[in-house]
Amino acid sequence: MMRQLLIHGLDAKTIHLIQSAVSDALYVRPVAKETLEAALGESDALALVQEQGSIGESIRERAERFDAIFGQAPIGITISHGLSPGDTIIDEILTVNPKFEEIVGYSKEQLLRLGWSAITHPEDLEREREPFRRLLSGEIPSYTIEKRYVRPDGSTVWAEIVVAPINVGRDDYYNHICLVQDISQRKLIESSLKESERSKGVLLSHLPGMAYRCKNDADWTMLYVSPGCERLTGYSQESLLNSREISFNDLIAPSYVQQVHRDWKEAIASGLSYSGEYEIITRLGERKWVWELGQGIVSENGTVDELEGLILSINYRKRMEADLLYHSRHDLVTGLYNRRHLEELLDTTCAGRGGEHCALVAVNLSSLHASAMTYGYLYSQEILKEVAQQLQALCKPAYTLSVIHEYQFVFHIQGYAGKEELKSLADAVREQLSTPLAMEGIGWGIGIVEVGQKGGDAQDLLRKLLVVSEQALQRWGSESTHLFFDEQMETQLYREEQITGELSAIASGEGTGRLYLVYQPVITIADGSVAGFEALARLEIPALGIISPLQFIPITERTKLIIPLGDSIIIEALRFLGTLYKRGYEGLTLSINISALQLLKKEFSPNLLRTIRAMGVKAQNICLEITESIFAANYQEINRILKPLRNAGIKIAIDDFGTGYSSLARERELEVDCLKVDKFFIDKLSHISEDRSITSDIISMAHKLGHCVIAEGVEEEVQLQYLAKHGCDKVQGYLFAKPMDEERALQYLSQHTR
Ligand code: C2E
Ligand code: CA
Ligand code: CA
Repeated sequence: MMRQLLIHGLDAKTIHLIQSAVSDALYVRPVAKETLEAALGESDALALVQEQGSIGESIRERAERFDAIFGQAPIGITISHGLSPGDTIIDEILTVNPKFEEIVGYSKEQLLRLGWSAITHPEDLEREREPFRRLLSGEIPSYTIEKRYVRPDGSTVWAEIVVAPINVGRDDYYNHICLVQDISQRKLIESSLKESERSKGVLLSHLPGMAYRCKNDADWTMLYVSPGCERLTGYSQESLLNSREISFNDLIAPSYVQQVHRDWKEAIASGLSYSGEYEIITRLGERKWVWELGQGIVSENGTVDELEGLILSINYRKRMEADLLYHSRHDLVTGLYNRRHLEELLDTTCAGRGGEHCALVAVNLSSLHASAMTYGYLYSQEILKEVAQQLQALCKPAYTLSVIHEYQFVFHIQGYAGKEELKSLADAVREQLSTPLAMEGIGWGIGIVEVGQKGGDAQDLLRKLLVVSEQALQRWGSESTHLFFDEQMETQLYREEQITGELSAIASGEGTGRLYLVYQPVITIADGSVAGFEALARLEIPALGIISPLQFIPITERTKLIIPLGDSIIIEALRFLGTLYKRGYEGLTLSINISALQLLKKEFSPNLLRTIRAMGVKAQNICLEITESIFAANYQEINRILKPLRNAGIKIAIDDFGTGYSSLARERELEVDCLKVDKFFIDKLSHISEDRSITSDIISMAHKLGHCVIAEGVEEEVQLQYLAKHGCDKVQGYLFAKPMDEERALQYLSQHTR
């Protein structure tokens, strides 16, 4: 029964003091035992009543004691009276103690005037009306309520009050005592607690996963799971709690269970938190990646009986990771593995482990680049996809197919039965590709590198593979379509490296080698006069001798060294032109070979025109030879580049006409001056009957378009006869002269000028 007077936060001693104070008050005005019981509890009331009889001390002494306690109590006390039940005035205050004044901020005098309902917050007054009514009617012996008082400054103060009837004398009035404790602080804490609970709730319900607390047992029996559980697992909170429908352990994909248990055990043993990624299987049976972060809860006796943590869905991240991983290892067009994957594969399988022999079989495609430029990117992508599929169909379990370069496919073969197996793969490739590629006019070559027991560096192997497959590609059209990488190629590879080194040294003004020009006369058929010269580059390296441009020009193009080296070739050729002027030859034409890379460089034309002016030579005496394959790119673009050069008087000749991509039909669209008919057609003139040769057609067509025709590689009289008969304009070839150095070219000129 004591509980009725218990107010939170008061210790037993204080309560006793208050009780004594009240009892003193009651002593002054004896009270009915029931009221006393309601206020103090049965036993206390009884004790008090008994005490009353036996106490002989003076009333004054008692009153003093009452005043002291009433005045010093750390709790607000009011004794008020209203009219008897049924009367309307109910809130008159009889007396208050200083603590109460302090709590509500009014003085005793003000309070006696105001009454308690005036200082009670209107909302709470409403709430209090009912229990107060019941107290008055005797339905209840007392009531406890939390309510707000409004202080003079308008602020509110929360209080917990206990109200009980008490009889303090004015018999016609109905009296009661009210004990008041300021609980503003507690209310503040409560509301911030409520707020933090609320935000925790918001956090938990929006978690991309769930928070949990579970037993540290084999099932991970869940004691609490947050609402996100259902979204994460498909199971409701209830079905997971206490493993009612399923245990968390059973949600984990079986292949991870052991690992998760092991990691948790370790984390608990070392007092660390657990963090792990694994898959769960949802109610619908789908696998989902989750990330769990948790910690053991250490009980008072030091054991970890429960665990607590978060399980978050990381499906999206895992998918992205998988995508990234996929993209980093695959070619996006064909879906095959890419170079990086192959390199790693080579590093693990061929890095000199002395294990099984492995081999690389590369398939290189030609002219796809040109198709891409002619028919568009998508078209060539389609061809690539088609080829990828065809090759994929040839894969056996030990084969891995990659596409490592634009248009270079590679089979990596782990442990093969010998050259025969590789050959038969090459045959199968040929079989498979012949139809689709031949129709597209695309050539291909197959290069094979066998990796011996001593293995090899991935980069080195792939370079060899490129060399051998490019060589195989050059042989396209001949009987054998595959080539094995051999010692000779190794030597050649080494030679190419030396040349490359020398070329870059020359480009930077160093090096022991020499890049120079030789000149081959071009003869006018009609009168046998020298029309001019073609400048042809030579490279001389002390260790290797004189190297053909057929070998080093492609290297300069690959390494982009053609840009600086091409510039010095132009300057050297123009210098020779100047020398011709000095010797009195003003009307000759000097032809310079220009590679596509040079021409496509933005500043090519203005630079050339500037150089021509600076060197005091005439544009009319210069012819640029460009191969026709360059026009396959975008002839309008090439025409645009050539225009200012032609306007200045420079002539443009199409070199190697008939071997490249462009057709006769295309030729009319090219804004050029001459065609140089390739040696291939001239060679045919010696053993094909005249009426079957198309050379005459080329000549007449070129004439119709207003172009002059030069035949190159003329070695025999019969060829010259044919060309003369069909009106070819000029010739060039060993029949007249081989390319010669400057001195001999000048000598030739003086001998052949009348
Ligand atoms: P090209 O422009 O078609 O040059 C003609 C090639 O045929 C030259 O080979 C020449 O020496 C050779 N030739 C001429 N008449 C005969 C003949 O009657 N019989 C035979 N068998 N061959 C003959 P070269 O000098 O080895 O040049 C090869 C190619 O290298 C040239 O072919 C040209 O495409 C390229 N090239 C040469 N010099 C340069 C240069 O300065 N810049 C660029 N970009 N390419 C060059
Ligand atoms: Ca040429
Ligand atoms: Ca040529």
